[in-house]
Amino acid sequence: MTTTGDGPGDAGTSAAAGLVLVIEDEPQILRFLRVSLASHGFGYLEARTGRAGIEAAALRAPDAVILDLGLPDLDGLEVVRAIRGWSAVPILVLSARGQEQDKIAALDAGADDYLTKPFSVGELMARLRVALRHAARSAAEGSETAVFSVGGLRVDLARRQVFVDDREVRLTPNEYKLLATLVQHAGKVLTHRQLLKAVWGPTYLTEVHYVRLYMGQLRHKLEADPARPRYLRTEPGVGYRLVAGA
Ligand code: CA
Repeated sequence: MTTTGDGPGDAGTSAAAGLVLVIEDEPQILRFLRVSLASHGFGYLEARTGRAGIEAAALRAPDAVILDLGLPDLDGLEVVRAIRGWSAVPILVLSARGQEQDKIAALDAGADDYLTKPFSVGELMARLRVALRHAARSAAEGSETAVFSVGGLRVDLARRQVFVDDREVRLTPNEYKLLATLVQHAGKVLTHRQLLKAVWGPTYLTEVHYVRLYMGQLRHKLEADPARPRYLRTEPGVGYRLVAGA
């Protein structure tokens, strides 16, 4: 079966940590990913074009997809949309510097996270684990964990209560909505657009200053040092990420 086509190396081995489909055309990055994933117990499958990647995603049902945005045939965004048409598999996009808009569009279209080239094995594994954990949790529970905690921050989604070092913090309804949205996707980057849609609704998608304002308020209430946030991290030019619990 030549599901991945376009070159050698599509061994398609599955392994304990999960099967990862890599859609990328650069031999150096492919080699780096093949070695890194194998050494961390992942099965590896590769496709060198967008079309071959979409086909492999459908036929081989990988546990995660790593997708380069610069492919020889299709726009990476089209690949995200195609896969999202039938699958909730975690998708991590690889982008080069200068592809900021493509990266944001891919996240808005349903990609889970991104890595900017060059990236380290450590970054890759951290992102991959968060994405796989999130997918497993969504599959198991359908929605969310009842209580989220990281460091001294605790968010009880059932009771809608927020605590910092066991002291309850009062949030306004929109502050809470913003925090709860980040909690539901803990560890993952959320774009300004995704946050605006979740908190303020689809007619406010361009009001980026709303997110900045409310994020500032949240940091003042939740962070020991709002200027150097420990929990609510800024992803420059993209959006925000709540650090995942241990
Ligand atoms: Ca490429």
